[in-house]
Order: sequence, then C-alpha cells, then structure tokens
Amino acid sequence: MAQILFTDVRPHDVLVEDGRLVPLERRTEGCEVVEAGGLLALPAPVDAHVHPDKTTWGQPWLSRTPARTLRDLIEGDVAARAGMTAPVAARAAALMDHAIARGTRAWRAHVDVAPVYGLSNVHGVREAAQAREDLLDVQIVAFPQLGLLSAPGTAELMEQSLKEGADIVGGLDPVGVDGDLHGHLDLLYGMAERHTVPVDIHLHDGGEQGVAQVLEIARRARSSGVPTTISHAFCLADREDLAETLAEAKVALTTCALGADPVLPVRSLLKAGVLVGLGSDGVRDPWTPFGDGDMINRAHLLAYRTDARTDEELATCYEVAAHGGAALLGLEPARLQAGDPADFILVRAESVAQAVVDKPTPQFVVRNGRVRERSC
Ligand SMILES: [Zn+2]
Repeated sequence: MAQILFTDVRPHDVLVEDGRLVPLERRTEGCEVVEAGGLLALPAPVDAHVHPDKTTWGQPWLSRTPARTLRDLIEGDVAARAGMTAPVAARAAALMDHAIARGTRAWRAHVDVAPVYGLSNVHGVREAAQAREDLLDVQIVAFPQLGLLSAPGTAELMEQSLKEGADIVGGLDPVGVDGDLHGHLDLLYGMAERHTVPVDIHLHDGGEQGVAQVLEIARRARSSGVPTTISHAFCLADREDLAETLAEAKVALTTCALGADPVLPVRSLLKAGVLVGLGSDGVRDPWTPFGDGDMINRAHLLAYRTDARTDEELATCYEVAAHGGAALLGLEPARLQAGDPADFILVRAESVAQAVVDKPTPQFVVRNGRVRERSC
C-alpha cells in the first residue's frame, strides 16, 4: 500500500493510495511526499471527440488545399492520406503521447471506416491505444466519414469493426451527406442494438434541416434506450429552447469550439441537465492545421468562443472538459475527492479560472495514482 502525499497543493493536499485518493488522516509513516510548491490540482481532462487516424502529429508539415464544401474536405482528406507514409498507429501514437503528457486521461476517438480504408484505421488506432492502456482510455467510434448509404459496403465494415476494436457506432449528417434520415438512423440504431453499444453522430447540417435531425435522433434515443451523443450539432447554437428536450431524451452533445463554426450554448445546456463534452476534433490533419490534443488549450478556446468572463464561467469550461467528458464516456468521475481515481494534473495557477486563461503546461501528470510526467 504505497502512499504518495502531494503537499502544498491548491485547493488542498492530496493523498494517493492504490490508484485512489484517500482521506489525509490515513497517511502512514514513511509515505512518499511530493512538495508541490503551491501548484493547483485539476481533475485530468477528457478529449470527448478526436480524430487520431487523420493526424499528421510528429510528421512533416502538410500543406492544405482550398475547400468550400464538406464534400471538398472529405475528398481532400482521402487524397492527402493516400500520400501519408507513416502508418496510422505511429501517427495516432504520437498524438496520444502528447495528450498524455498534457494530462488527458481518456479519448473518444472517431476513426474512419470506409471501403477505401477497410478497417486499417480502427486496427491502427487500437494498436496504439493498447500499447498505452494504463495511461489513456480510448473508445473508438466507427465513423462513416465518406457516407454510410452513399458509400456502399460501409455498414458491413462498421459492423465488422465492432468485433475488431471499435466500441461505438458513428454517424454523419444523415440528410446532408446521405440524403436519407431514416435509412441512415435505421442502420445506426440497428447496429447499436445488436451489439449493445452507444451511438455518436456527427451533425454539421444547420438550420431547420439540422434541428429536424436532432429531434428524430432524440426520439430514437428515447425509444431505444441506446446511449446517444450528437457531435458538433451546429444547428443547436441558438436553440437553447431545445435543451430540455435533449435532457429528457438523455442525448449528450460534444462541442469543439472550432474556428468560425457555431459553438453550443454550454451554460444553458448544462443548466437544463444536458451532458456536454469537449473535444479537439481534427488535430493537424488534412482538415485543419490547428489543434494540439491539449484539453487545457481546448477549454481556453471554449471560454474564448463563449465569451466567458467570470471565474465561474471560466471554470465551467474546464469542468466540461473534465467532468462532462468523463460522464459522457461513462468513466468514474475524478473530482479530487477521497475515493475518486487518482487521475489529476498539477499546474501553475491560482485557480481553475486562471488556468483556463493561462493554459499552463502540467508540471505533474498523475494517472492511476502514479506520477507519469514530472517537469519540475
Ligand atoms: Zn469530428
């Protein structure tokens, strides 16, 4: 029962034993002591939406071609990846290692499944994840990036992927990409029910067309009981009135606070009881030169995009990354309370609010009760 006491820590000292936090009075003689010099403890964050199979992390710079539509981006992605020489496992591993060093405890990875790729992306990401399974929990979403109905053979590959490393059924713009809301959702929910797995659907479609899809997804989530997440859901940016409907249907949402794209009204969604997670989305890939897999940076972007100003508003952005992500992935919460898993980081900041603004690099990363990174 080796213990580690982290002392001189804000907001309070932390005693770790067997991978969990325990009350300070349980401290035994001879316990290892880490003097933290006033560092702030934060719960380890979760990246609830990331695309590691597309990343060029650790690889030479990729120049991107202009794209006007979603279709342009998808086609540019396929063409760029045909020219990548490093295997998926190596690229995904490089990004995982960086995310781990920045304190991330878990990923929900959306991984392309399409006839042009077969299951190579799922196998590659799973291989990289298995080599780091004590450091990063990785859920793989079988993601039909090239369309589900519009790319024949994809549904069969997705079904197969659930036996070969994927954990979740992914969807993509049932109307905007596939032009068949019910056909697309029938396949997703059929597969999810057969394999007893969740569904996570990318929805970029905007306006009333987007909202109609959200409402149908919510209806199916309620009637099937399949745990359901809608990623991006740009159409909900100004539809706070739908928060209660989503909460009632237990539909979770992820947002990535991307560039010029609409951002979810996080505070009113949380108030209504909707589960919201935060993600990187693409990281230095054919879609975007930006992103770095660092969830403190992502919480900063969410705060910036949602005009957070008060300490409470700033802290909420970090809570979405940590607690929202953990709940969305079905992980045990790491709230720095006795009994919680010892998954936390120590950063130089006075408060969570300041950390969200300053984006400090973690000085310590503690995962499953062990110090994994130490830079002071
Ligand atoms: Zn995505």
